Amino acid sequence: MFVSENLSVNSAGHLAIGGVDTVELAKEYGTPLYVMDEQVIRNSLRRFHDSMNKYYDGKGEVHYASKAFSCMEMCRVVASEGDGLDAVSIGELYTAYKAGFPMEKVGFHGNNKTDEELRYALKYKVGHIIVDNISELHRLEAIAGEMNEKPSIMFRIKPGIDAHTHDFVKTGQIDSKFGFALETGEAFEAVKEAVNCKNVHLAGLHCHIGSQIFDIAPFEEAARVMLGFIAEIKAKLDFVVEGLNLGGGFGIKYLNEHDPAPFEVYLERVSYVVKSECARLGVELPKMFIEPGRSIAAPAGITLYTVGARKVIPNIRTYISVDGGMADNPRYILYGSEYDAVVANKANEERTEKVTIAGKCCESGDLIGENMPLQHAESGDIIAVCATGAYNYSMSSNYNRLQKPAVVFVNEGNSRVVVKRETLDDIIRNDI
Ligand SMILES: *Cc1c(COP(=O)(O)O)cnc(C)c1O
Repeated sequence: MFVSENLSVNSAGHLAIGGVDTVELAKEYGTPLYVMDEQVIRNSLRRFHDSMNKYYDGKGEVHYASKAFSCMEMCRVVASEGDGLDAVSIGELYTAYKAGFPMEKVGFHGNNKTDEELRYALKYKVGHIIVDNISELHRLEAIAGEMNEKPSIMFRIKPGIDAHTHDFVKTGQIDSKFGFALETGEAFEAVKEAVNCKNVHLAGLHCHIGSQIFDIAPFEEAARVMLGFIAEIKAKLDFVVEGLNLGGGFGIKYLNEHDPAPFEVYLERVSYVVKSECARLGVELPKMFIEPGRSIAAPAGITLYTVGARKVIPNIRTYISVDGGMADNPRYILYGSEYDAVVANKANEERTEKVTIAGKCCESGDLIGENMPLQHAESGDIIAVCATGAYNYSMSSNYNRLQKPAVVFVNEGNSRVVVKRETLDDIIRNDI
């Protein structure tokens, strides 16, 4: 009935998340409110790392991609599960550092890292810096020399897999701002140069083929392409690539018709490809890294709103306006993303209407979704939008000078604030 397994209807007829009544949460903490189920986060991490142990003989690490949802408590949860982290900015690094995260388990990404960010990553000794382009390699080589450091790096490679649709195709020419191209020889030239760098250690190769991918085949194909490159490097340069980072991108269920492959199946099949290709090509089994973001955070979260206006435009549509919108969830206005929604205080009733849920920002495109099946919603009702744990809080803004909502974690029947709601003074905090 619900897209996420941790959602249910309780004896009051209310939507519950992790066993906690969402209508009570809305009352206690106010709306809009992000609610995340800590057990779902932990279970997802465990499913990934247990599968890594089972199918890849423990020779791997799971790095949660913190851009999906980053805050100090999330970093603590990931650390307590023994997993690593992927960070893409000095802000995400700082959050991890301040949360006491083991920095040697952090991979630092980004297609345009600043010198300040590179220095910061060296100072706090992150595990890997994933170098995106040749000028970054040159800058890092110089900065590492100045700082007397020798960081481990990986190269971000474009394996030439188009995974944004269900059917994947190999592209002849890849148009992406991320990484080194394989087929032009750019990636090989970069490896040749890095092998001879004094101040960096080339510790691996990385690829990330996209996001919200349901099929496993593009991941298998990416692994094959990357191992072919590792074999080429060994043959031509006599250099052993120790690490293979296959990125994230595993799809999740936003709507009931979505049917993503279980994480276990993904890891079983990709591990098989890596092992069998290594045997076939005569290369050493690399240490494997994966970087799930959305698949850890999204299913754990919901957003609660209070309904304000109900506006019926006869023969056209019904707008249900809520007290949030694109400032807390910009994914509809960015991508036309679809969500499932429920009237939390009427969760045991039929969804008899199809409505447009509108935000309160001054943009016509500020919608949570259109044609959404919903219970009859009226002013004062609480609406829960499901599977909003990833790329919602992390993409939120203060547009229209709205205050960012609080984030509450629920765990075994209890709830606690992990990010406070912004105050009006937060809104003018930096104003002179
Ligand atoms: C965004 C990103 C991820 C995570 O992607 P999801 O689709 O959220 O799993 C992993 N690795 C890199 C390099 C990324 O940019």
